Amino acid sequence: MKNKLPASFLLLFFLLPLSGEEIKHKIKVMATIFPLYDFSGQIGGRFVQAELLIPAGVDIHHFEPRPKQMQRISEAELFVFCHRRLEVWADRLISKNKKGIILEAGAGLEQNLSDDTNKNNRNQKQFDPHFWLDLRYAIEMAERIKKALEKILPEEKNYFQQNFNRLAAELKALDQAFSSKLAGCRKQVLYYSGHQAFGYLQRRYHLQFQSIYGLSPDSEPSARQLAAFIRNIREQKISVLFFEPMISSQVTQTIVAETGVRLLPLHPGASVSRDQLLSGKTFLQLMEENFKNLLQGLGCE
Ligand SMILES: [Zn+2]
Repeated sequence: MKNKLPASFLLLFFLLPLSGEEIKHKIKVMATIFPLYDFSGQIGGRFVQAELLIPAGVDIHHFEPRPKQMQRISEAELFVFCHRRLEVWADRLISKNKKGIILEAGAGLEQNLSDDTNKNNRNQKQFDPHFWLDLRYAIEMAERIKKALEKILPEEKNYFQQNFNRLAAELKALDQAFSSKLAGCRKQVLYYSGHQAFGYLQRRYHLQFQSIYGLSPDSEPSARQLAAFIRNIREQKISVLFFEPMISSQVTQTIVAETGVRLLPLHPGASVSRDQLLSGKTFLQLMEENFKNLLQGLGCE
């Protein structure tokens, strides 16, 4: 029994904080979509308790918080959302003059993408909120979160800055890889069985998306649009179809059955599954997976 430790020692061990330093102030952050949640947690580290507002599998384009969720938002010291034209209900919070910081992380990043998004798409003039898929904008959004955290806990400014620098360097490296590697692909047009979320990505990296859904995943294609999409795939001799992992696969399965295309996932990044959330999946990992699949599916050097 010589390995048995005294009970008092064990108790002491569990009571000691792992870092050896007690965190007096954990900033409560409520973020609407996954990239903002992930950036808050990564930059805030041990000083942040981040919560994701929009649950897995819920369409971010049509989400409305229930009164209980509104209550949780009002308790947060930092409420971070993407853009008032995506989370339109956030206006109510801003006008109520809430106590905590309200951050519109994508303010001013909107672009008029109507010229270079899908020409055939019926939704081309609508607002496109998917800024985070241009990795330079993702860095910008992360920096705004860092500044908000600094305001709340100025004494940890250096810590937040270090974490931000690490995250920004990783995102920048991936942005550069996107820019240099995607230019050498055999194909620049890709077919996507998902919603039109990649306007900013295609603009930054000179790709062309043909998406079967409109700007939000509930804008399902009509039978006629689906038939035209399938006809295009056949005519252009497309062998790979990219698909959106978080939406119904019925449309995708129909296209596969009709054309025999091989499937590769391409993730819009706005929300993840419950399992991915619990396992600590990061936005960067999702984008790295996208990158690998793009290289493979577009036949890049
Ligand atoms: Zn979307």
